[in-house]
Amino acid sequence: MNKSVALHGASLVTFSQRAAGPSAVANELRFATWDDFLASGARATGFFLEDCTPDLQDELLWQIRQSRWWEFWVALGPKAPSSSAETLADARQSRDKAAQSAAMVQAARTGLPHGAHLDFEERLLQFLFVRDGASLQPVPDRHSHYLYRFPLAEALGADEERVTRVLLDLQRRRFLEPGVLIDRVRHCRKCSSAHPHYHDVCPHCRSIQIEKSAALHCFTCGHVAPQADYVQDSKLVCPQCNAHLRHIGVDYDRPLTQYACADCHHAFVEASVQVRCLDCGELAEPDALDVRGIAPLRLTARGRAAMREGSSVEHAVASEFSQHVPQTAFSQALGWTLRPSGDAPNASLVAMELTVQQQDARGLALIDEGVRRMHELLVDSDISTVDADERLWFLVGDGASLIHRVRAMYPSGSDAQLRTAFIDLSDVGEARDPRQLMSRLKSELM
Ligand SMILES: [Zn+2]
Ligand SMILES: [Zn+2]
Ligand SMILES: [Zn+2]
Repeated sequence: MNKSVALHGASLVTFSQRAAGPSAVANELRFATWDDFLASGARATGFFLEDCTPDLQDELLWQIRQSRWWEFWVALGPKAPSSSAETLADARQSRDKAAQSAAMVQAARTGLPHGAHLDFEERLLQFLFVRDGASLQPVPDRHSHYLYRFPLAEALGADEERVTRVLLDLQRRRFLEPGVLIDRVRHCRKCSSAHPHYHDVCPHCRSIQIEKSAALHCFTCGHVAPQADYVQDSKLVCPQCNAHLRHIGVDYDRPLTQYACADCHHAFVEASVQVRCLDCGELAEPDALDVRGIAPLRLTARGRAAMREGSSVEHAVASEFSQHVPQTAFSQALGWTLRPSGDAPNASLVAMELTVQQQDARGLALIDEGVRRMHELLVDSDISTVDADERLWFLVGDGASLIHRVRAMYPSGSDAQLRTAFIDLSDVGEARDPRQLMSRLKSELM
């Protein structure tokens, strides 16, 4: 193979520490570093990391996923080392297999709007779409606030916080679905940290000053306390009724209690468990933590269909309900309704916030269902939108009536919590700025 031909045709790009500068052997482009590859202007169909050092391998994986080749197939060679970022690669396989997979990804990309203008969400979905059956793998990380992170999603351009939010949102909208559950993680309800610290406390006063200790049970008055509390001048005397305890089985016995509290002198068999959040210090009972399932995430049929139709994600969501409009269009419509020259508008601005205790598949389905039922209550001339915090906004004729009917779907004790607020737009007087009205409503949600 002529070197210049290989450099001009697209092919699998190999990174190897044995490569000294670009070389072309058997239609194969070899480089030692990312900069060498960039400088060569070579056209890649995919990447093969043959035998780099672990550090270089990790560096290359990040560089590829953050470059304009972010969605290309990346394989580790059979002899490539293990490295901390290796989940950014697609597979560990032979060069031939890698070339085949790379070609499949190239074929799947055809006709998709690949490019730098895609936002993070679209990149995520497209990444999964071009590799059939792929999923985002959660990786445990003790330094992570959430204990598990999705390194690949982070590599595609978002910090951990945003990845967590976007992945939940894509599940709620049924573009992604969890695969087989691999773990359950408990989160602090105050700060969402997945670092609860469990410790034993006195079930009576919650003190941690508890110790294993023998306890005595006074038959005269029934008092149970640590043995030390009964000792007076080397005799055993009940601290409550002053009975002298001489004979075990007659005056007293040793109950099954194992612990005694140094603070309140309570004796007990089993300590209570209390949780302290290592990140924010919040104290909680173990069953008052949020439990979230951890599972790989894959595209749903609905997500694949949206990608195939080439419609943007936003469009796919919007098309679900005819009243749904993008946020900017909603603000414009609100501004128009409130225009100073207009008549007193016969309309209401409504905000609703629907939350569930557990952001798992069932919780997300509850929210989906709620959003659908809310939209069924609208008429065609109403409009709705969703803001970045998942709050729903409606511009409708009669806000009080809409809220009344939605509230009826969520009596107290429901699995989902509803907070609502509304303003009758004929009452706003001079306060006609859409943004100010919306932030006022946010503060009035209850
Ligand atoms: Zn007693
Ligand atoms: Zn105590
Ligand atoms: Zn916390």
